[in-house]
Parts: sequence; C-alpha cells; structure tokens
Amino acid sequence: MSIIDGKKVASHIKDKLAAEVKILKTKTGKTPGLAVVLVGDDPASAVYVKNKNKTCTNIGFQSFEHILSENTSEDKLLNLINDLNNDDQVNGILVQLPLPSHISSKKILVAINPQKDVDGFHLENVGRLVTGNALFKPCTPAGIIKLLDEYKIEIEGKNAVIIGRSNIVGKPVSFLLLERNATVTICHSRTKDLSSLSRSADILIAAIGKPNFVTPDMVKNNAVVIDVGINRLDGKLVGDVDFASVSKQASFITPVPGGVGPMTIAMLMENTFQAFKNSL
Ligand code: NAD
Repeated sequence: MSIIDGKKVASHIKDKLAAEVKILKTKTGKTPGLAVVLVGDDPASAVYVKNKNKTCTNIGFQSFEHILSENTSEDKLLNLINDLNNDDQVNGILVQLPLPSHISSKKILVAINPQKDVDGFHLENVGRLVTGNALFKPCTPAGIIKLLDEYKIEIEGKNAVIIGRSNIVGKPVSFLLLERNATVTICHSRTKDLSSLSRSADILIAAIGKPNFVTPDMVKNNAVVIDVGINRLDGKLVGDVDFASVSKQASFITPVPGGVGPMTIAMLMENTFQAFKNSL
C-alpha cells in the first residue's frame, strides 16, 4: 500500500507557481490578486480563510481579506461582490461557504464575475464543467484528479465510485472522472446496498462528512481510496475512511490530514493564477 502525500504534491505546485508569478510580475509589473470573503465567525471557516491568505502571501499574490459580521445583509454582500468584480487588482473572488441562512448562496455565487470565479461554482462555470469546457475546475475535485495523475494512477476504463453528491465535491469530481473516461457511480444517503457498489470501485472517493464511515468490508482489495472528509473526532482530525484498517487492503490511500486538503488550496492558487493570466 502506498500513501498519497498530498502535502508534498501541493508544496511542489505552490513552489512552481511562486516561480512563475515572479517571472510574470517582472514582465508585466502586475501581481495576481485573490479576494476572500468570509461572513460570520464560524471557526473552521476562519481557519480556511487564514490559510488561503497565508498561502497567497507565500506565493507572491496579493490577498484581499473581507471579514463581515454574521448579520451582514445580502445587499451589502452583493455590493461588495460588485466592487470586487470591478476591481482590476482582484483576479479571483472566493466567498467562503456556508453563508448565514438569511443570505442566498445561489444568489451570491451567480453575482461573481465568471472570469473571477476561481471556485468554479457560478452556474455558467458549472455548465462549462459538465460539457467539458471548464474555465476553472472546482478546487477539491481538481486536486483529486491531480493526485491520481501525480501517482500515475490510471483513470480511463476504471470503475470510480463516489460516496457523496454535493455540488462542491461529489458531483463535480464525477464529471472530471467521466471526462477522463472512468465509469462513474455516484452514491448518497438514499443509495441502497452501498457496500456492494463501493466494493465494485477501482477508485473509491469518500466525500460524506462522517468520521471513519468507510470500513474494509466496503472496499475491494487493491482499490485506490481517496478520502475527502474532514471531521473532528475526540479533538483529532479524521477522514471519512477508517484509515488504520482500510489502508491494509488499498493499493493507494490518502491520509487525513495531509491528503486532499492541501491540494484544495494549491488548486485555488492555480485557478487564481490562471484568472490573472487570462486578464493580461
Ligand atoms: P455535504 O454534507 O454537502 O454532502 C455529504 C454527502 O454525503 C451527501 O451527498 C449525502 O448524500 C452523502 N451521505 C451522507 N450520509 C451518507 C450515508 N450514510 N451513505 C451514503 N452517503 C451519505 O458534504 P461535502 O461538502 O461534499 O463534504 C464532505 C466532506 O468533505 C466533509 O467532511 C467536508 O468537511 C469535507 N470537505 C473537504 C474538503 C477538502 O479540501 N479536503 C473540501 C470540501 C469538503
């Protein structure tokens, strides 16, 4: 069994980006910029936003942090997005989800200029992704494909089973796998006989949000197991896969932390750099 080291792969990607940013900065006199908007004080979201800003600075991007109070109105947030859409220094806009319940995330996501939608959640970008013309691939799904490629894991012709059908992970990763000619099955909370489906997977992706949900009886011998889950259990971060037992029968497996998580931020930086290059 091999452990897929997402931290290492993400670190190479960020080093490469930093070098490219330096060259383009000298050539153009311009700096890529990412605006991150956080509404409310959810502690996990605050940590994600802090990490995104820190990574921006390390790579040589400008980072614009907008932290708004929990009771910010939808109109105020829409106005901010409008300002960011019109700000030439901002190449990418990311609104940290989830938003407070009085704000419609649907409305907010479609207000972002699709050319600056580095999360890839605007409906136009979702349509592009589904038809194989993505401007920006959603970061976590893109990170998963990058990990498979880095470890030379074949996708074409393989049975890929995804547990979870969220708009952020499950659905978009299914389209990226289809694009790469995998045979894709998406499972969810109403799926009947989940174990027999998951056991058919050459590549099993868990994006459920339930600690240690995937156990060895759900996994085929020598399957590639990608764990997207980030859960807190007894003060520790754990994934959706019971790593200790499943790792014994997988051919490749991602750990939590240090697997998919670091790739999400690296892909966000790649998308922002792409948006910057598109703007030149
Ligand atoms: P979500 O809550 O939107 O979706 C969870 C999915 O799991 C749903 O589609 C649901 O149908 C399915 N599910 C729930 N219970 C199930 C069951 N018993 N059997 C089968 N399917 C079941 O979650 P999400 O936003 O996709 O996130 C999933 C996990 O991934 C969370 O732990 C989240 O924190 C993590 N996550 C990690 C990253 C990263 O960068 N590593 C990024 C996004 C999300």
